[in-house]
Amino acid sequence: MREHDRLFIGGEWAAPSGTGTIDVVSPHTEEVVGRVPDGTEADIDAAVAAARRAFDHGPWPRMAPAERAAALGRLSAIYAERQQEMADLVTEEMGSPILFSIFGQAALPQMVLQYYVDLAAEFPFEEERAGMLGPVTVTREPVGVVAAIYPWNVPQFTLMMKLAPALVAGCTVVAKPSPEAPLDGFLLAEWVREAGIPEGVVNIVPAGREVGAYLVEHPGVDKVAFTGSTAAGRTIGAACGRRLRACTLELGGKSAAIILPDADLAATVEGLKMASLMNNGEACAAQTRVLAPRSRYAEVADALAAMVGGLAVGDPADYGTEIGPLAARRQRDRVEGYIRVGQDEGAKVITGGLDRPHDRGWYVAPTVFGDVTPDMRIAREEIFGPVLALLAYDDEDDAVRIANDSEYGLGGSVWTADVDHGVEVARRIRTGSCGVNLYVLDPNTPFGGYKDSGLGRELGPEGLAPYLEYKAIPRPA
Ligand code: NAD
Repeated sequence: MREHDRLFIGGEWAAPSGTGTIDVVSPHTEEVVGRVPDGTEADIDAAVAAARRAFDHGPWPRMAPAERAAALGRLSAIYAERQQEMADLVTEEMGSPILFSIFGQAALPQMVLQYYVDLAAEFPFEEERAGMLGPVTVTREPVGVVAAIYPWNVPQFTLMMKLAPALVAGCTVVAKPSPEAPLDGFLLAEWVREAGIPEGVVNIVPAGREVGAYLVEHPGVDKVAFTGSTAAGRTIGAACGRRLRACTLELGGKSAAIILPDADLAATVEGLKMASLMNNGEACAAQTRVLAPRSRYAEVADALAAMVGGLAVGDPADYGTEIGPLAARRQRDRVEGYIRVGQDEGAKVITGGLDRPHDRGWYVAPTVFGDVTPDMRIAREEIFGPVLALLAYDDEDDAVRIANDSEYGLGGSVWTADVDHGVEVARRIRTGSCGVNLYVLDPNTPFGGYKDSGLGRELGPEGLAPYLEYKAIPRPA
């Protein structure tokens, strides 16, 4: 049992203002494995005040980028050393299969941090330009106090995509984890202290959505960075619009994997294990619509059913597990609800369905629906679990049309023997990323969504820009 009775505010472990607590329940055992304070509005006030002080009067924004990078390099080294601990912890709190966790919940966040540490050395924080009346210095200054609000599915990754560029830029941060997965934030806070990051630069307050909404509206905040559902993103975007406050939004998805007629089916189906079902399917960029050419539809259906039906479902801490439990009871209920919707809409379960693979824990059977048409809810709405919809297309134009016929525009993939042609098809897909014969998020490459999948980009140099204000200083020749 991991108990925390303090919050990380102003560089120290501060007593919370309220008495409420959040129980963290293991999705595998359904037992309480952790307890943390339930942050209140008063805790947010204290955290924003600490971040404000650190920004307005502290050393952090005034340091040279190389000095900040040196401090963050210490944090990155600690992270690299102890990433197994982080992977185990995230698996315990939200059920990510440990083999995915080692990469996606720990190694990848550390790589993102190290990427921004390295970028600081070469990024043009200041440049000289020739203006009409004389030279102009163009500087990039930190935007200020950042509210970072993130979900439970990849908590360290979604936090680090905000924290690392914000800190390299010279911002200070109030991070709000979700109530489902708050424990990893406490481990990170320990490392922030060990690395000697100045007080108030990083503050972490787990809390529910009302307190999150309070943070978004807080007058001491300059920028909001959010990852989560499209519904919450709309609310947050509207609040930021009213206040003319900068915001980036990484929201939901319903991405398509297009299998072209010449694809090697065995390799494709193996690739979809990751592209479509990573992290139990609890991934915004998961390619949960699989588009098969009508000429090979039966063959694809058989291969996909065999792969998905053969996945090892069980204890996420077990190295043989490929699909663990869903993160929360409500998430299991939501996914089962969608399986019912698919059946009611007339789609055909070709593997999986409503029989639970285990009596205890929030497990659902990995499921593939065949005979799905683009108008069905299971083809349009984000399910956020191991449930795939298989759709047939007539020709390549039809495949592109179906892939683009979505309110979302986050990820996608094209599977083909002709990689160059795959790239041409990928260019036609209206999403922020589209892989060919694989799907991956690289730290140095922008990630984000078109349409209802969000606003702005994270990762890469593009992911640093939202944390910088540009200032021009012209002067006479
Ligand atoms: P959610 O939107 O309910 O919650 C996400 C976070 O926002 C939590 O910390 C929550 O407490 C907080 N929150 C919710 N409403 C808020 C509000 N009005 N104001 C301030 N804070 C608020 O999402 P969820 O269901 O917990 O997480 C899953 C969702 O996240 C999925 O839709 C998924 O697609 C999305 N997601 C997107 C990405 C991406 O990069 N695009 C990555 C991971 C997850």
